[in-house]
Amino acid sequence: MLITRTTRALGLFSSTIKSTSYSSFSRLAPFGQTYTRTLSTTTQATIPSYTVNKDRLWNTIHETAQWGATPDGGIRRLALTDTDKAVREWFVSTTQSLGCTVKVDEMGSLFATRAGISTSLPPIGIGSHLDTQPAGGRYDGILGVQAGIEILRVLEENGHQTYAPLAVIDWTNEEGARFNTGMVSSGVWSGRYALDYAHALPAAEDKTKKATLKSELERIGFLGSVPASYQANPLSAHFELHIEQGPVLEDEGKMVGVVTGVQSMGWLIVTVHGKNQHSGTCPMARRACALTSAARMISRVEEIALAADGLSTVGVINSWPQSPATVPHKVVFSVDLSHHSTEVRERMIAETSAEFGRIAQANKCTVEIEDIWNSPAVQFHEDCISCVREAARNAAGEDNVKEMMAGAGHDSVHTSDRCPTSMVFVPSKGGISHHPDEYSSPEQCALGAQVLLESVLRYDDQLKKAAL
Ligand SMILES: [Zn+2]
Repeated sequence: MLITRTTRALGLFSSTIKSTSYSSFSRLAPFGQTYTRTLSTTTQATIPSYTVNKDRLWNTIHETAQWGATPDGGIRRLALTDTDKAVREWFVSTTQSLGCTVKVDEMGSLFATRAGISTSLPPIGIGSHLDTQPAGGRYDGILGVQAGIEILRVLEENGHQTYAPLAVIDWTNEEGARFNTGMVSSGVWSGRYALDYAHALPAAEDKTKKATLKSELERIGFLGSVPASYQANPLSAHFELHIEQGPVLEDEGKMVGVVTGVQSMGWLIVTVHGKNQHSGTCPMARRACALTSAARMISRVEEIALAADGLSTVGVINSWPQSPATVPHKVVFSVDLSHHSTEVRERMIAETSAEFGRIAQANKCTVEIEDIWNSPAVQFHEDCISCVREAARNAAGEDNVKEMMAGAGHDSVHTSDRCPTSMVFVPSKGGISHHPDEYSSPEQCALGAQVLLESVLRYDDQLKKAAL
């Protein structure tokens, strides 16, 4: 069975999937891991023992939820809307009042930089996002940015100047809900997406397609002049605190996740061709039913994923001609496959492809499989992972810490192409996310922020020792 690797847009699914425009993948700038710095992790860390303020962090999260708050306790704060503008203005004035200089780049990402002792090192980034899904929660992305601001407050009240500067970052349109490419501004920063491509992304709600990411940046006053580029606006490292958005930490009774990378993921589009036949007159043995074939394929791909310890999801399916009295001649469905190993995921695709071919043949059908998007597994940098690991063990106790890979994309995927990166996870109640019921407790949020603070201070200590 031949798999076509293609960059076509979703076409048949355009009415049902609000998806990334896959034309983006033909616009990739050359990229790769370009940093070479590896720090010594053998020397004893000498970091001060500051404590984040749990109540202050919690209050800030919920006070700023006013911009986009929904009656069900969630937030609807789509990128570059008036509610996003309001929380951005709050971010700028708050970080300026904490002594930061705020840079706005060409993608509208905000970099609130607090000076360090070194005037030559790029800042250590503490980034995440303040935009949400249309019916989002109060923690996804927001916790990471607000924990960054809490860190600025802790350092300010303790009069501590780090060796490297720090930059708390709000990456624009991480969710990709309004402008349909997720993590787009960190992707422009890293060189994965061209600036022109990102600027031209249309606002999903605007049928006239006149409102673009660039015009909306201009409208809300956040089209900056700082190049959205890791070269012109570099970072020494990037740390991100995020809610897990899954049930693993809660199920295993762990308090903190040390994120070592992001799993391999991607989508296949499967088209099954059969024959239109009369449902009342065509004997079963003569049928070429595309939908029956598809049903067998869907149950088989789940078995393949289970056997490989991976994940499979068929989220969208359409059949033609949509008549109860006609055997369907065509079915198109999506398959989302993930695995922590890129290699194993490739094997899952190969096996899926072979099995789908066999099933189609056995049902007198044919099948085409298009590999429309795939993202290899990302391995974060050991220097940053070890800072997070040590910080997590110190703050939560070794037994309460789990090393894990992220199942969803984050801005840290893109930053890790250009600077050492790692992430901290805290549990999500019931594994719920992208929903108003999303919840992490005040203690869980504060513990995550504490681990983030200690991770950054540890990395800063290593930068200092490497420089002296
Ligand atoms: Zn997020």
